[in-house]
Amino acid sequence: MERSTIVRVHEGLHARPATRFVKLAKGFESDVEIIKDGKAVSAKSSVKLMLLAVKENQEVTVRANGADAIEALEALIGYLENPKAGLEEEEPAANADTPEAPAAPAPRVAAPAATEEAGLRGVAASEGVAIGPAFAHFPPEIAAQGRTLKQDEIAGEIERFRGAVATVQARMDRALAQDSLSAGDRGIIAALRDIAADDSLTGEAEALIRDASDAVSATITAASTIAADFSKVDDHYLNARADDVQAVGRQICLALLGQDDVSLETIPQGAILIADDIGAWDLARAPLKRIGGVVCGHGGATSHIAIIARTHGIPAVLGLGDRINALRTARDVALDGNSGRVVIDPDAATRADFTARVEAAARERAGLTAFKAVTPKRADGTIIEVAANLGSLEEIEAAVEAGAMGVGLFRTELLFMRHMHLPSEDMQAETYAALAKAFAPYPVIVRTLDIGGDKPIAGIDFPEEENPFLGWRGIRMCLDRPDIFKRQLRALLRAAVQGNVKVMLPMVSDVAEVRQTRVLIEECAAELKAEGVPHAAFDLGVMIETPAAVLIAPALAREVSFFSIGTNDLTQYIMAADRLNPTVAKLNDVSNPAVMSAIEMTAKAGVAAGIMVGMCGEAAGRPDLIPAFVGMGLTELSMSPASIQRAKKTIAGMAGAST
Ligand code: PEP
Ligand code: MG
Repeated sequence: MERSTIVRVHEGLHARPATRFVKLAKGFESDVEIIKDGKAVSAKSSVKLMLLAVKENQEVTVRANGADAIEALEALIGYLENPKAGLEEEEPAANADTPEAPAAPAPRVAAPAATEEAGLRGVAASEGVAIGPAFAHFPPEIAAQGRTLKQDEIAGEIERFRGAVATVQARMDRALAQDSLSAGDRGIIAALRDIAADDSLTGEAEALIRDASDAVSATITAASTIAADFSKVDDHYLNARADDVQAVGRQICLALLGQDDVSLETIPQGAILIADDIGAWDLARAPLKRIGGVVCGHGGATSHIAIIARTHGIPAVLGLGDRINALRTARDVALDGNSGRVVIDPDAATRADFTARVEAAARERAGLTAFKAVTPKRADGTIIEVAANLGSLEEIEAAVEAGAMGVGLFRTELLFMRHMHLPSEDMQAETYAALAKAFAPYPVIVRTLDIGGDKPIAGIDFPEEENPFLGWRGIRMCLDRPDIFKRQLRALLRAAVQGNVKVMLPMVSDVAEVRQTRVLIEECAAELKAEGVPHAAFDLGVMIETPAAVLIAPALAREVSFFSIGTNDLTQYIMAADRLNPTVAKLNDVSNPAVMSAIEMTAKAGVAAGIMVGMCGEAAGRPDLIPAFVGMGLTELSMSPASIQRAKKTIAGMAGAST
């Protein structure tokens, strides 16, 4: 018995929806399959279901065979067509929703210093300096045993394998039962537990054992096969699941061998963790509070380890490649997560330098917490809003903890980049509303999609461009694709009912771009009204990040409610120095008089028109520049959460300022 339908699950059947679908399917005795493009897989395996990569609006067939086939079809088709009905309970956040998100604007590969200092250079992935004893974590590869079983050994080997799987599952259940687990870490372990419980991995391994392979070899082969399938799918979320499958396979092998994994449990206080790579399972169980710093061969600024390091304030330098081998036998290591520098066995002078910097940073951190609740005001009593730059909802906690007075920049790109297809209006509306509620009554400024050919996303065909930074990006692309833009604007109008939502447009270089956007906003509001969907108006602002926007700032100020200066792009465009090119990093300097006068011109135009002028580029968090910005008339500064307390302190310390 079978039925076909169009999938209305807005993220398609991966991550949480896949788990929910499987849970539902497992509630029926019948064998249930889901078929897409002629390929049928068991609806009771989340791994197989994820690998089928079913997307929103695709047609699938559900086939059921058994006593309760009618009920199974009804329930499963019902879920695919109306995923929200009857499934209100919240499940633990899946891995999909946590570690991929950059916790802060991703740091870039550090530019070489003018005078090259001693040491290695890697990706400066999490700011801060550290020095301490090296803790090398290079778990040995588990080798396949390659033993051919005798016929009468097979049943026993399958039993042994099942016992090992049960041990691993129980270990994960115990980890999940800990109250102290953070939501992110719980998500990682829950995703691994799902894989350990899924019969794709265990079924594949058991089939190999039945073919006379020993259990360890069978597990290694099965995990590698499934990991390879995940690696091939054109979706970065699913690619990352390959590591998870390998991590679970490794745990099963260790249980079979009666060995414990080389554990991070014993890492001494303040040690520097040195590893080629750190798997999700190791990471989730690591005693992060004891880790002084991290240096890895693998990993970039948006890898799991980078995000976790930034969230937990651990300095990290990643992506050293094979040069990591030089650290295997290091006794002590010093690292600078701001510049990407790593020094092996530092000499006395380097040691003294790093120790002094670590101590200064600790003193500063301790002194800064007092500024969390401060509302800084300039001499005339005007409040200076110190807000957070965020890229995902997972970062809300860190921003609130730091004392953020709202969000000055919510980058929406990640919402689009995380998925295999364009995010639906509902999903966007929920995300923006959750953000607004978390910071109410403070404002949250959501930036409309700022994406171009340098960071293509599924669902938009970007042309090959010689120079994507000067190409079809940001507001330019959005105005050419009203289908995508209106979906976002409708979601923002809906979210504005839930809190203080403001919206700003990126890469504006012409007044016409603002006027065209207003026409679309009005169209969207009229449509929502006709549909009877609750919505509310929002303040519209622009980012000032092109030289053109600076030069027409007085005209732009008449069209919008606020400016937010994007110094990251403004600096590269004013100085004609690519922000990603380390060889011109010296020119890419916001404090250059050319950039500072562009900022001043913008501030003057905004202040004269009586609109708010803020800043959301990285420079907004620089204590050396904040007094100049406040002096120019900026009343909002938005930055990564880690910089907020320092910025509040800087403003509070300005002559005549109060709190
Ligand atoms: C900027 O350009 O300053 C900015 C904040 O935007 P992004 O870094 O996302 O380009
Ligand atoms: Mg920008």
